[in-house]
Amino acid sequence: RPDTGVLLQVDKARKQFGGVVAVNDVSFNVQAREIVALIGPNGAGKSTTFNLITGVLAATAGKVAVLGKSVSGAPPQEIVKLGIARTFQHVKLVPDMTVLENVALGAHLRGRSGAIASMLRLDRADEAKLLAEAAKQIERVGLGDQMNQLAGSLSLGQQRIVEIARALCVDPMLLLLDEPAAGLRHMEKQQLASLLRQLRDGGMSVLLVEHDMGFVMNLANRIVVLDFGTKIAEGTPADIKTNPDVIKAYLGA
Ligand code: ADP
Ligand code: MG
Repeated sequence: RPDTGVLLQVDKARKQFGGVVAVNDVSFNVQAREIVALIGPNGAGKSTTFNLITGVLAATAGKVAVLGKSVSGAPPQEIVKLGIARTFQHVKLVPDMTVLENVALGAHLRGRSGAIASMLRLDRADEAKLLAEAAKQIERVGLGDQMNQLAGSLSLGQQRIVEIARALCVDPMLLLLDEPAAGLRHMEKQQLASLLRQLRDGGMSVLLVEHDMGFVMNLANRIVVLDFGTKIAEGTPADIKTNPDVIKAYLGA
């Protein structure tokens, strides 16, 4: 795992759905130990860009490279093995299972292919290892006291953090988060931001998609702005805040 340099490179990535160009020759990178935010109005192409990076969708043109190696055509489980883990735009926890069970199950499903079959054949030692790893990540994100509560009983902000714990079980170098702050209260957003800073300071990189510009201004090292599938700006929060093209895109002028 590199301590400096480029982890992820998106190079003129393009995705068309019929006549709609959802992602239009977009290029940017993510380096070690930084938080990069991908922002833009609804429909700008943020989630589609994530899906290109994580192997959920294949690019129409262009490429995605991890540590300098093209991953075009690689399926999601291969991307995870290369050290890139993600959460989804909508919470995907099982509400009737405990926090610990949710994290352990998610970790297991991510870690192997043919997961369901192998899960049924887990022996006691494997199960204990999985639960120990899950518990470690739950402590790491600060939810140790909620470990044995049902996931559905937690606040939305806590549920988002459980999803992050689940992604952390594969020990990623880069964590991808799709709209992690959506629907959260102010206090919950602050807790989430401080967790993400803690992970970055521990050596991880984060790429997050956000609709909410305010949330990323105090958090991101660098911001990439999409509008109608095209990258219209990239820079520090201070650059982006005063960029006339960005202001125009957000005001819809
Ligand atoms: P964002 O996440 O920035 O809100 P998306 O990446 O979800 O934007 O969508 C970008 C554009 O691509 C939108 O116009 C959307 O309607 C279109 N789009 C996204 N996914 C699909 C799909 N599976 N089929 C057809 N069009 C899609
Ligand atoms: Mg989206």
